[in-house]
Amino acid sequence: MPGEIFIISAPSGAGKSTLIRALLQGDPRLRFSISCTTRPPRPGETPGQDYFFVSSQVFREMIAGNLLVEWVEQFGHFYGTSREWVESTLAADYDLVFDLEPRGARRLRSQFPEAVSIFILPPDPEALEARLSGRPGGLDAAELVVRLEQGRRELEAAGWYDFLVINDELPQALAHLQAIITATRCRTARLWPLLAPRYRL
Ligand code: ADP
Ligand code: 5GP
Repeated sequence: MPGEIFIISAPSGAGKSTLIRALLQGDPRLRFSISCTTRPPRPGETPGQDYFFVSSQVFREMIAGNLLVEWVEQFGHFYGTSREWVESTLAADYDLVFDLEPRGARRLRSQFPEAVSIFILPPDPEALEARLSGRPGGLDAAELVVRLEQGRRELEAAGWYDFLVINDELPQALAHLQAIITATRCRTARLWPLLAPRYRL
């Protein structure tokens, strides 16, 4: 049975990467969908683990070859999800966590309608700005302004998602995410085809 798909979005600085990292550490059945991007690595990011960092030319070739499930251009860079990588990971029975902005989230869901979408909210706009400016590696002032503005627009998309998680206290937000994942795995549509034969049904 193929794995579940969890799409996680949040305005930049809400704590999405921190939460996803913690989620993956505690759950060996989860894999992170490693996107391709043309943006340069940030300090602390590992190629092939956080992103596949590629040139604009390679990215354009992937678009032309229809090798991406979805892609967007934002903050002056391309971001996209490799079709082959996603399909092989799901076929291996892993559940996949996608870190996507809202346009990509909708496009992915149009191709995988059973995907579960989760939006992470900061406790308030001030926390978002403080976290974004305090992030290791930092952002220059211009990029900070762009990301805050984009974040405000992304917040407007929150109503589309299946679940909302407020990242105020990290352990509680993590527990809520884990609960959503556990509940999804208990869905009848997923479990019954596996369980029915056990009861000779
Ligand atoms: P995103 O991936 O959403 O842009 P990050 O995970 O990089 O955000 O987090 C941005 C900053 O906020 C980091 O310095 C991180 O340690 C911090 N942070 C994340 N969650 C919390 C939280 N619940 N309380 C306080 N700081 C947090
Ligand atoms: P960052 O530069 O902070 O790593 O990511 C910027 C934004 O791009 C985040 O909102 C993240 O969710 C989004 N993103 C990362 N990878 C992809 C992808 O493959 N597709 C789409 N649509 N968005 C992505």
